[in-house]
Amino acid sequence: MPGPELTSETIVPFIVDLFERRGADSYLGEAVTMSEHMLQGARLAEQEGAGDELVAAALLHDIGHYTGEFGDDYIDQGIDNHHDAAGAQVLAPFFPAVVSECARLHVAAKRYLCATDPGYFATLSPASVRTLGFQGGPMQAEEIGAFEANPYHAAAVRVRRWDEASKVPDTPTRAIRDYADLLQRVVDQRMDRDQSDRAT
Ligand code: FE
Repeated sequence: MPGPELTSETIVPFIVDLFERRGADSYLGEAVTMSEHMLQGARLAEQEGAGDELVAAALLHDIGHYTGEFGDDYIDQGIDNHHDAAGAQVLAPFFPAVVSECARLHVAAKRYLCATDPGYFATLSPASVRTLGFQGGPMQAEEIGAFEANPYHAAAVRVRRWDEASKVPDTPTRAIRDYADLLQRVVDQRMDRDQSDRAT
């Protein structure tokens, strides 16, 4: 099945529809659904006064679990549960790099925090502890250096902390529709920057 022909005008309605159709899916052994998790992450970002781009990153970091919706090209990665890379791949054409990089780095950020923040491991949910094993465990010293060299690593760490805190049942959140304007602003800013880059 070919993926839908997505553009900067259709990507946000596509994501809103995806959350509304698939958001009730379970979230890999967590006590919240996928959409509860993603909406709680966005709410924590807003509560910390994060800008639009990081709110979008918190909201979309796990979209790689749904890459089958974007067409067959993405399905293999989804099945292998390389949902970090798969999510980045579907976001990268439309969103600023910080958004797609926070998705790409959110598993790495967990492994980084497990290696560098002594209190972090205790904050992991049981399901997150289980997946840490498949994901390679805490980072080794050379991996830590490479991670810190990524210009988006600090943003990815912030998103990761909201990610871990977004697994609390019955937390009130806004609805995905309430984020449509914010998401479109973030997409439009990226498209405007691309256009001015081409003009110079
Ligand atoms: Fe997550």
